[in-house]
Amino acid sequence: MAELDKPKREVDVPSDWTYASAPESRDIVHIRERYGQFIGGEWLEPAETYETIAPRDEEPLAAVGQGTPEDVGRAVAAARAAYADGWSALPGSERAKYLFRIARLLQERSREFAVLESLNGGKPIKESRDVDLPLAAAHFFYYAGWADKLEYAFPNRRPRPVGVAGQIIPWNFPLLMLAWKVAPALACGNTVVLKPAETTPLTALLFCDVLRQAELPAGVVNIVTGDGRTGAAIVESEDVDKIAFTGSTEVGKEIQRRLAGTGKRLTLELGWKAANIVFDDAALDQAVEGIVNGIYFNQGHVCCAGSRLFVQESIYEPLVAKLQRRLATLRVGDPLDKNTDVGAINSAAQLEKIRELVASGVEEGAEIYQPPCDLPEKGYWFVPTVFTNVAQSYRIAQEEIFGPVLSVLTFRTPEEALEKANNTPYGLSAGVWTEKGSRILWMAQRLRAGVVWANTFNRFDPTSPFGGYKESGFGREGGRHGLEPYLRFEE
Ligand code: NDP
Repeated sequence: MAELDKPKREVDVPSDWTYASAPESRDIVHIRERYGQFIGGEWLEPAETYETIAPRDEEPLAAVGQGTPEDVGRAVAAARAAYADGWSALPGSERAKYLFRIARLLQERSREFAVLESLNGGKPIKESRDVDLPLAAAHFFYYAGWADKLEYAFPNRRPRPVGVAGQIIPWNFPLLMLAWKVAPALACGNTVVLKPAETTPLTALLFCDVLRQAELPAGVVNIVTGDGRTGAAIVESEDVDKIAFTGSTEVGKEIQRRLAGTGKRLTLELGWKAANIVFDDAALDQAVEGIVNGIYFNQGHVCCAGSRLFVQESIYEPLVAKLQRRLATLRVGDPLDKNTDVGAINSAAQLEKIRELVASGVEEGAEIYQPPCDLPEKGYWFVPTVFTNVAQSYRIAQEEIFGPVLSVLTFRTPEEALEKANNTPYGLSAGVWTEKGSRILWMAQRLRAGVVWANTFNRFDPTSPFGGYKESGFGREGGRHGLEPYLRFEE
């Protein structure tokens, strides 16, 4: 039979290719009704509590302690006792064993932690599962490796621990920021009092159970929950030797003022308005993926987010068209759905801040693009947004929005790109997209940013130091450099 004479078979071609939902079960997580303060290896009853919620639907999750100055005092005393009772004198190889154990336990319990992180913080499960948890474990593995090699890391300098470290972390990467801070501190022989952010305390509280499993001596790590007042009490505590802070520039400056003249050590990892620079010879499709990853990863709640996009004029139109098409494919919704690309905004206050800054962009004359998007009715949500026609003076080009909002600006020459990128009081990160290696090096040498990514963005690795220039802070976390703030040197 001739091909054309064959009877045609009806084939069922689906017309709708939308993803079915693929929710991760939350049954793996057990959340207690009420949490106390984890001090000296025990749970102490809090004087006062507040409710922590799930930003995806505002569901109350648990009552959590509002740490008082007395709680902080107890935690610092427990950390001091643990420091003096043997932790600081333990051989590095012994400290390493605890860190290796913690790393392995985080790996074993990673699904549980990832679900809790997404539930309490709002970030998509695929990010907490594939980024936050593997990186948190990797930090403990990495610093476990350094614990018995400090003499080699700093030859002829006799490294010694600093003492009790007060650590204050934000809500955008709750467990990962804890790992960034706790792992190097313990590797160097210090003890810790850590305060998680008010809105995202639950993974830090679950981490206390990992400490129990790892049989870490009591008091080596103490977790005190609460709001900014608890953080301020840690900063003011007289018996703390070092403060490590990640958060807003405003609070960072306030802490620096308070510590001036006290002799306490300080490292600050603060905000930024990163420049992501695309030259006309870049691979555009790859660049678009990098731009999306740079600003919509973790809803843009990223201190090094690529929130200012600089595009060479000759490719402006095709790039913006590609970007807008890509934006329309981002799936915004339930953080526990494995298909979700952009989850919930962390809190009502943060959503308000994003809305206010976006309104200012429209008012100042920028052009807004938001793809059609069905947002859930309950919870805190913001549609991924691109602003074009942005002037450098606009607030959306100057201030950290800390949300899924991108401002697009243009340039003609590398010199102009550089001048515009550096025209900010901050300097945490930057990205360069070009196929020319020499141009990457030329730009990287001149960009005033702690990290410069080339043909990629938002890549993190425990071996690589991370930190800021100018108002983005000082001190480095990660890598061998990340050990230094936790050491003093006996010459
Ligand atoms: P903050 O700087 O206020 O919070 C960071 C941490 O510091 C939290 O644990 C916070 O507690 C604590 N804290 C607040 N006030 C004090 C104080 N006076 N002394 C000591 N500790 C304090 O950031 P926010 O969470 O309020 O976010 C505000 C803005 O900061 C965001 O919109 C974003 O622009 C930026 N930000 C930048 C981050 C970064 O990584 N660079 C991270 C987070 C925010 P509590 O949670 O109770 O406020």
